[in-house]
Amino acid sequence: MVAASRDLVREINQFHILNAIRIAGAISRVEIARITGQSRATVTNITARLIVENLIYEKETEDRSRRGRKRVLLALNPDAAYVVGVKLSAYRISCAVTDIQADVKSSVNMPVRTSERPVKFVADLIEEGIRHCISEARIDLSQVSGIGLGIPGFVDSRSGVCFWTPLYQKGDVPLKDLIQKRFQIETLIENDTNTVTLAHQWFGEGKGIDNFLVVTIEDGVGMGIVVNGQLYRGARGIAAEFGHVVVDPNGRDCRCGKKGCIEAYASNFSILDEAQAAIDKGEWHHERVPDLRFEEVVTAAQSGERNLQNIFTNAGTFLGMGLAGLIQIFNPTKIIISGEGVRAGNLMFQSLRRTIRLHTNPALYDASEIVIQKWRDTDWARGAASLVLQELYKSPFNRVRPII
Ligand SMILES: [Zn+2]
Repeated sequence: MVAASRDLVREINQFHILNAIRIAGAISRVEIARITGQSRATVTNITARLIVENLIYEKETEDRSRRGRKRVLLALNPDAAYVVGVKLSAYRISCAVTDIQADVKSSVNMPVRTSERPVKFVADLIEEGIRHCISEARIDLSQVSGIGLGIPGFVDSRSGVCFWTPLYQKGDVPLKDLIQKRFQIETLIENDTNTVTLAHQWFGEGKGIDNFLVVTIEDGVGMGIVVNGQLYRGARGIAAEFGHVVVDPNGRDCRCGKKGCIEAYASNFSILDEAQAAIDKGEWHHERVPDLRFEEVVTAAQSGERNLQNIFTNAGTFLGMGLAGLIQIFNPTKIIISGEGVRAGNLMFQSLRRTIRLHTNPALYDASEIVIQKWRDTDWARGAASLVLQELYKSPFNRVRPII
């Protein structure tokens, strides 16, 4: 065997071993050999090197089957690498530093408008945010293995080109290159919903599952589809525009120009819009304010405002219709719903579950679990960080380093 291919085999074996440890949390060498199909000797050799490199460590636990005996398990060293995740939205930039398990070490949310601003201006703000987070996390820039950017829009993650985004104005140099140049650290860019999907696949509800869907409810309704363990991108890499599936042809106007899209009912933007209309019609006795917040509408509905409750019930029904169709097609193990919209809780998700049950064949319905995530405001930035972590796990760690 030539040296090059021997190295490659070792790298592939190493990836499978690290992956087995990541999925299990803590696992014995014997179990790793069984899961990966590698010999005990190979597992022993590779894990010995990973321990020396400080990527994993030995953890002793009680052996339940043999009292008094200890079992030695292997676990990832969370501080083996750090990455930065950045999420851009129209009125906010969020940054987070995470460890190798996507646990957030520090984060910052900057309430700034990015829409229609020049790309260089946006890059300046991102740079500030990243430097702040790194210093808060008490680490050095040289310890950062990569930067991940998550943005709404059509992004080709392989080339790093953003075809379209509702945010900043494009310049001569793409945003990804601007950030990479400023920090001299490898930078990746991806559609924001895809980054959240990756985070679930690698570290969250989708860990170890091959078929699942992620729905994000924010100003828009986004979707990530994982089929056979792979993120589904479609022919032009812009698949899963779930928010613009029409569920009511004569329905409400959507921002995309069509009528009756899911987004026209279930997005935070649309719910706020309907709540404002309820004020105008005298159906909700509340002062008309231009900056009405989503939480205010949720609280009022929870405290018994019937007309507001109907808005959420409707949103859940239309979202459920769309998801029932996807369950019929994809037969996912899980549907994970996340984003700020989950704050609506039962107001929206009771009708969603009811509609899905009504429109799905029982065998398919029973095979799918619907998981409503608890919202954390670092989720998006954590998702962007996972973009880099995914690359880290795939490639041997010692190869990922700042580009000079
Ligand atoms: Zn639409």
